[in-house]
Amino acid sequence: MAYPTLRLILGDQLNASHSWYREKDNDVLYVIAQLRQETSYVKHHVQKIAAFFSAMNAFANALTASGHNVLNLSLSETEKFNDLPALVLSLCEEHKIKRFEYQRPDEHRLLTQLQTIKLAGIDVSCVDTEHFFLPFEEITDHFKANKGTRLETFYRKMRKRFNILMDNEKPLGGNWNYDADNRNKLKKTDLPNIPEPLVFENDLGDLLETLDQHNVKYFGDIGEHLIWPNSRAQSLELLDYFCQHCLSNFGKFQDAMTANSEHAWSLYHSRLSFSMNTKMISPMQVVERAIVEFQKRSDEISLAQIEGFVRQILGWREFVRGIYWVNMPEYSNMNALDANRDLPRFFWTNDTKMNCMKHSLGQSLETAYAHHIQRLMVIGNFCLLAGVDPAQVDEWYLGVYIDAIEWVEMPNTRGMCQFADGGLVASKPYAASGSYINRMSDYCSECHYKVKEKVGSDACPFNSLYWHFMDSHVDKFGKNPRIGMVYRNLEKMNENLRQETMLRAELLLNNLDDL
Ligand code: FAD
Ligand code: SF4
Repeated sequence: MAYPTLRLILGDQLNASHSWYREKDNDVLYVIAQLRQETSYVKHHVQKIAAFFSAMNAFANALTASGHNVLNLSLSETEKFNDLPALVLSLCEEHKIKRFEYQRPDEHRLLTQLQTIKLAGIDVSCVDTEHFFLPFEEITDHFKANKGTRLETFYRKMRKRFNILMDNEKPLGGNWNYDADNRNKLKKTDLPNIPEPLVFENDLGDLLETLDQHNVKYFGDIGEHLIWPNSRAQSLELLDYFCQHCLSNFGKFQDAMTANSEHAWSLYHSRLSFSMNTKMISPMQVVERAIVEFQKRSDEISLAQIEGFVRQILGWREFVRGIYWVNMPEYSNMNALDANRDLPRFFWTNDTKMNCMKHSLGQSLETAYAHHIQRLMVIGNFCLLAGVDPAQVDEWYLGVYIDAIEWVEMPNTRGMCQFADGGLVASKPYAASGSYINRMSDYCSECHYKVKEKVGSDACPFNSLYWHFMDSHVDKFGKNPRIGMVYRNLEKMNENLRQETMLRAELLLNNLDDL
């Protein structure tokens, strides 16, 4: 059958509120396709592949049910095409297409591919995804290539611009940021109160057989069901659950970690990143719903909790997108600290004696999820201190996490946690010794290593690696006023202890696989 217009829906463009779908148009054919190239640009966790495919199927079915013409192509149906442009060109020919439309991809890789599509007699047009707060064209008003931008400045502008948590021109409550109130550790008495996470039991169908049949390489396990939301309805259910059970403690325990609760993997986090990154729900919808809950239950949900949550979405999420787009593609090669060691094997096997890493890596490999502080201050901090090649760090994060799409993953890994962008995201490296992990978690009390020790075979690896990292990069950070105190402490360190600490670090760096 011939259709004048072909519209492409990518796997992370499942936005049912997009203006495309406002009217049914028999001249339009929508195409949504499982593609081999998307399963193999890095090796993915099986839950990530399943979640994307399952959400794409549910979206295609919902569009069809509401009367649109939809071509929902399986891996088998697309296997003969080498890449996305080849598929599009073939469909244009087959359906005598006159106009090809796509929503602007959030990944540079896919944008580059789609921009190559040029066919005689076919109009090609790219439209907005209608998802983010900040319109794409305005990114360059806030971000410049190769220039550090600070989150706080951007966040304040966004609060004003979208009139969120504002009291006329002033921030609600008088302060822009309540981060200082959001650094509690979980006490033993808090543990029984951690809410049971809401998980789903989505059917996997014949997914695993299909992946095997197509020789798709993946890692991790999935069990009998997909626990991640695969539709807007489930995403809204998760949002409701978060607002009712987690929001009142979100900010307070945002940075906390524990090994001693069966719900430790989720704590008070929303786990909405997959729903938002696939656009099943919009950031505005999430923020508005959370604010309504705050207004309704302001006796239970303090301003610090809601502000902490809003800052992550209106602030950080939009911020990393800006950094990504003004700096790509150069960003993907940045390595300001010349880090070049290999990622240790235990990132795949979880065979490590470091209890903090064992818990954080273990839950990542098991659930395809870790919360922010585990990603940043445990796993990311380890890679930073160990000088792991940022390309390998990127690849691991991009493969393992359910919500990992390059535009949001890369500025967080290469930028925020590896300082490989030389400070475009962060004004100082997020480097910490074991004492930070001890302060925010109960991991250290059950660890093989001793958190208070710097040297000796039982000393916490984070300690000597931290001092070694600071010492090796004194040329880069020595004059940074935000870490002047660290260098003063290093200078004050007893010379023998300093030498032993550096030797211990070098021994560890040469034997990372054994930690
Ligand atoms: P919550 O703790 O409930 O936070 C609410 C929401 O805020 C998140 O869903 C997310 O949309 C947003 N958010 C919070 N922090 C950030 C941030 N730094 N950047 C962007 N959005 C943020 N997030 C991803 O979505 N995809 C990634 O691939 C990703 N990789 C990361 C890698 C590293 C090294 C680090 C330090 C962070 C990464 N993040 C990533 C950001 C953050 O860790 C996740 O968004 C968050 O853990 C997702 O879980 P949640 O939905 O329960 O978040
Ligand atoms: Fe991690 Fe060190 Fe604490 Fe062990 S002692 S859990 S390695 S910070």
